[in-house]
Amino acid sequence: MIWPFGKKKQEPELVEPPLHFFRPEAPMPQVNPYLYIQARTLVLNALSVRGDVLRITYTGKAAQVQLCIDGVYHNRETLDGQSGGAIVAIFKLFAGFDLKAKVPRQEGEFQIVLPDRRFMCRVEDRLVKGAEVLTVHLDAEKTRPHKLEDMGMSEKMVQQVRQALDQPGMVLVTSPPHLGFSTVFNAVVRVIDRYMRDVVIVQSVQDREEPVENAPATTFDPEQGETPATVIPQLLRRYPNVVCVRKVADADTMALLLEQPEQERVVIFGLLARDDTEAVFRALALCEQPEQKEKLLEQLRAVVGHRVLRKLCELCKHPYPPPGQLLQQLGIPPGKIKAFFKPGPPRLPPEQIEQMQKQGTPIICPQCQGIGYFGQTGLFELLSLDEQRRQLFAQRAANLDSVRGALRNLGHRTPLDEGVLLAARGITSIQEVSRVLKV
Ligand SMILES: [Zn+2]
Repeated sequence: MIWPFGKKKQEPELVEPPLHFFRPEAPMPQVNPYLYIQARTLVLNALSVRGDVLRITYTGKAAQVQLCIDGVYHNRETLDGQSGGAIVAIFKLFAGFDLKAKVPRQEGEFQIVLPDRRFMCRVEDRLVKGAEVLTVHLDAEKTRPHKLEDMGMSEKMVQQVRQALDQPGMVLVTSPPHLGFSTVFNAVVRVIDRYMRDVVIVQSVQDREEPVENAPATTFDPEQGETPATVIPQLLRRYPNVVCVRKVADADTMALLLEQPEQERVVIFGLLARDDTEAVFRALALCEQPEQKEKLLEQLRAVVGHRVLRKLCELCKHPYPPPGQLLQQLGIPPGKIKAFFKPGPPRLPPEQIEQMQKQGTPIICPQCQGIGYFGQTGLFELLSLDEQRRQLFAQRAANLDSVRGALRNLGHRTPLDEGVLLAARGITSIQEVSRVLKV
């Protein structure tokens, strides 16, 4: 590896990007100007295609650059070992890391300065299976949707969630790991009128959570052996109307939460799971006594399941008749869905295409840069629990798939059913639904 301070021979001319790195309240690191331009260009290019995360995996021999766009990583350039290592070192110097430290993980931040704005970006460096993985988080400026409606939930579903939160009882929020759990949890809390009702949130001190206005958060420290149950008793002395616990993972917390609806309180709690049915199973597994399981099923009003998926780019999406075999696999009668949509060549005005051809520029969609997807929306599953559905969980407690099937027979729409609807409306592709649902 070449040291990032040195000078490299035979350097071709590079264009200065209109972007700088800055370390507030620290001396500017002295780095090779040529490689510094390359590092800044990587960030500028990432920002120009709405990249949320820039990731460089450095093995010593080479460095693979990847960009996360709308939740999916795309491979970009591969750098040779020398430049790759030196560019990784530049990011680390700006983030204030010790270059000589051989530690499994370092975390820091620096400022990105553009002509019209500046923002802090978080940098993380980890050693994973002999490779060094540097991640630069560029999404600091991104405003996440605040309301369920803005996340793609239908008005009817929002109404059902509102009704579930209107009376004492429990509402469970779930999503698979890394697919937007915090955003949906906050959006469910925001359904409650926080001026009329006192809402408290309990969360781990280790998690970076976006605050919810008028819903103060209290933290517990898992490293000290604490759980939400450690801090809930002191919060109850303030007589809150709504108790929210982001992630419940222990029996003591569950036992405490089960007592709250009897005190006329609403409980919103979260668990990571693949779908609503699995989330209920996981919540039941945290109940140690049979009467606690009964109580949970009695108190649980609704389960809100969610994951984010990518929307098709409006300029690139093309309809196609759904193959009969696919419809059969999905259990959809032939003729019910006229078209699905998939990415294709961009629909640009002919004169624009002609001009691009003349200039020899590749015909790439100006909106999605050829990815075929642009922006994200939510895929929701809402399970409202009535007596019949409660009985299913109580009677078939041993078999997840059997409960899933029985719920569907009772008219419950699974994540796949909801996904097919989104695909039939052209909001996303069936391939994207299959990617996020892993089916
Ligand atoms: Zn496009």
